[in-house]
Amino acid sequence: MSKHQAPVKKNETVTLYFEDVTHEGNGVGKIDGYPMFVPHVLPGETAQVKAIKVNKNFAIGKLLEIEQVSPDRVDPPCYVYSQCGGCQLQHMSYQMQLRMKAQQVQSALQKIGHIKEVQVEPTLGMEDPWRYRNKVQIPVAEKNGQLITGFYRKRSHDIIDGMDRCIITSESNDQMVEAVRKIADDLGISAYDEQTHRGILRHIMVRSGQAHDQTMVVLVTRTSELPHKKQLIKRLTEANPNIKSIMQNINPERTNVILGKKTKCLWGEAYIYDSIDEIKFAISAKSFYQVNPSQTQVLYHKVLEYAALTGNETVIDAYCGIGTISLFLARNAKKVLGVEIVPEAIEDAKRNAELNHLTNTEFFVGQAEKVMPWWTTQGLKPDVIVVDPPRKGCDQALLEAMLAMRPDRIVYVSCNPSTLARDLAILENGGYQTKKVQPVDMFPQTSHVECVALMSRVDE
Ligand code: SAH
Repeated sequence: MSKHQAPVKKNETVTLYFEDVTHEGNGVGKIDGYPMFVPHVLPGETAQVKAIKVNKNFAIGKLLEIEQVSPDRVDPPCYVYSQCGGCQLQHMSYQMQLRMKAQQVQSALQKIGHIKEVQVEPTLGMEDPWRYRNKVQIPVAEKNGQLITGFYRKRSHDIIDGMDRCIITSESNDQMVEAVRKIADDLGISAYDEQTHRGILRHIMVRSGQAHDQTMVVLVTRTSELPHKKQLIKRLTEANPNIKSIMQNINPERTNVILGKKTKCLWGEAYIYDSIDEIKFAISAKSFYQVNPSQTQVLYHKVLEYAALTGNETVIDAYCGIGTISLFLARNAKKVLGVEIVPEAIEDAKRNAELNHLTNTEFFVGQAEKVMPWWTTQGLKPDVIVVDPPRKGCDQALLEAMLAMRPDRIVYVSCNPSTLARDLAILENGGYQTKKVQPVDMFPQTSHVECVALMSRVDE
């Protein structure tokens, strides 16, 4: 066999021992060191797999039959698991999911960040890791003259036919999607068609504030016109008294992005309320809000613990969203400054501060990587900085601003262990030491990993 030739051909069937699992949850088996990645296979299993894609350096396979079964294998309870791309780990015991997530964080810290001395804490998981999501966004299509909803098949834009529930979504949100679908179908509202860029209803989004049993329905449409609007509102609200808000988001673009720029309120208020501990939050259609309420509480308590506030501190909460972490910290700090890029989220954050009578907060719209360096030039000296960036992590300018501000502690909330490790390494070079890293399972059954890290300044 030549060195440059893959040891397997496309469509060939091989039997392999799987030794590892990738961060996407795919099993890794090797043929003379050449890796094959196969969804739904666990480490420790031997399986017959078919090569469906063969590259020079790796192949992707499809599971045909498991010959040696791992004790961590469980029956995936979802009936569309094999087709849907939403969950990746339903075939893995929950205990193993938690172990794997902590290992992934540890390995990213070591391999990417070269941070060796920190022992990642065991992942904090859920007692019942199902039906946790408070938000669902589901595409709409038409089949045989009927509106259908369902998630896309893996790596496609075909809706899984007859998908009437998602068992990581709250039951009430599942039912709400079905109620909206049925009413829209009865009224003859057309579904958006990606191919022709015609039709109206693109997505149904349902978001709920579980603490107060409040629901927001967002109809994402191609056109600003929505036929039979009045009847739709009447039928929806009469049948579902917990609907507090019906919004229309208009997305006229040919795009995969779900929400468009413009949102209007069709009925009720433009926001719903949720509470974490005794703090109440108004949430609008376009603002980021954590999707797993009970684990959000666990996560925020960890942030609070790591921030170790006494009441005298000035705190920055960068990437603050609707100010959830800011308000959590404001109860125990002298002052909290939040910065966030989405203007609607900052409006929510200000409303939320008022709602909770927390007068020691200030919120700013802007790119954190621009606002933080500006604050530095203004001589702002926070005692603690909390960051909670999107997957790509913190911008270099923001990391430099943090180092220039020299806070006692940095609390880094991350949804991507790789960028976390990269950023912690930069902060370590700048005079900080990683003290603790705590994964919190915000997304059971999926391969997403969330964690909080605590860094302290090393005094010269
Ligand atoms: N801490 C919040 C939100 C975290 S999600 C919570 O727990 O709810 C990350 C947030 O960063 C989102 O609200 C997103 O809109 C915001 N964001 C993304 N890029 C940004 C940037 N460059 N500057 C400031 N905020 C940004």
